[in-house]
Amino acid sequence: MTKNSELIYLDHAATTPLAPEVLEAMLPFLREEFGNAGSIHSKGQSAKNAIEKARRDVAEILYCEPEEIIFTSGGTESDNLALRGVLENLSPRPVLSNPAKAGEEGNGSKVGKRESKNAHLIISEIEHPAILRAAELLKKQGIELTKIPVGKNGIVDARKIEKAIQSNTKLISVMLANNEIGTIQPIREIGKMIRKMNQEQRTKNQELIFHTDAVQVGGILNLDTRHLKVDLLSLSAHKFYGPKGTGILFARKGTQLAPQILGGGQERGRRAGTENVAGIVGAAAALKLAENSREKEFARLSKLRDYFVGKILAEIPRVRLNGDSKNRLPGNANFSFFGIEGESILLRLDFAGIAASSGSACASGDLEPSHVLTALGIPREWLHGSIRFTLGKSTTKKDLTRVAQVLKKIVVDLRALSPVE
Ligand code: PLP
Repeated sequence: MTKNSELIYLDHAATTPLAPEVLEAMLPFLREEFGNAGSIHSKGQSAKNAIEKARRDVAEILYCEPEEIIFTSGGTESDNLALRGVLENLSPRPVLSNPAKAGEEGNGSKVGKRESKNAHLIISEIEHPAILRAAELLKKQGIELTKIPVGKNGIVDARKIEKAIQSNTKLISVMLANNEIGTIQPIREIGKMIRKMNQEQRTKNQELIFHTDAVQVGGILNLDTRHLKVDLLSLSAHKFYGPKGTGILFARKGTQLAPQILGGGQERGRRAGTENVAGIVGAAAALKLAENSREKEFARLSKLRDYFVGKILAEIPRVRLNGDSKNRLPGNANFSFFGIEGESILLRLDFAGIAASSGSACASGDLEPSHVLTALGIPREWLHGSIRFTLGKSTTKKDLTRVAQVLKKIVVDLRALSPVE
């Protein structure tokens, strides 16, 4: 990867640069291999073959069947398809103007059999807005919604999820790792509990479906869907050195999804629209590449992150690390600095050639404190002074030493200007 010597990029959770090998794999499909995968002729067939190879490559990494892979336009669409796809299929037809009456209307489809009670959705409080907003919309449409709080360490307790399950619960969605504080959630533990409940306590009709938003972990954690015991899993290629605008949704065989984008029969009728061939090829190439170095990169980044966190906590007064110190993504360091504004720190860092984030990319620009940090119960004086550094392939120890030096000076300068004692 070419490294811009001017810039120290520590915002890999927002996005990653396209790997040169991935670009190479994509180029033919942006040039001579321009066929529509739906066409019968040879140009169309070579596009179709490339998509099907990409599907097999992704399936191998996720330990699933190729037919269980759906290509989408990104993590946001995968999350929306998982939540809305499952619940719009299974629940009674929602009535937007009067949620209280939602249960009285059927959706008329055979799959969407009327039930006496509206379906119930469980999510964690610290999900990405792609899940939160979709869940809130479903709630307006009559779905019962429970948000499970996290502990002070930013981790969801599997027992709280278990306690929240009701007879009408259909879907549980918990992210594999949080995008702001990097905390890794006990997905396998929750998955095991759900499978056990399905086997022992629930009829086929009542089976619980388990989704995880794994957008932050591609190329970092194991994506074996059998091990994780999930039914649905979302990924986004631009988080693992692939192209923006391409996502993946794993949907276990038998999981009924109402398509959210209607049109042609692409993706086995689950997601209409002419396929983004170059994007799909790029997503698979990126995932394969990232998977090949996953374990080595995990160890390298963990070591670098520990060095950086240790240095910041030791050298800067009144700073705290947000989220569990061990059970977090190897490249994530999220700090709060007492009494100063994260945005001011960010601007000064940017001026010094350092790119970081003051929250999730999607939430920044928003002056409200992040819902994730709020969920951790962080006191007000600390809440606005948070900065997320996310390390990646190009990060070196030398970079981090420089960032620590610059950051220390910025914090001293801003505190001298701050009215908060
Ligand atoms: N889920 C998580 C956890 C994310 O971090 C993001 C992006 O930041 C998304 C979903 C949305 O993915 P995309 O940017 O591909 O729409």
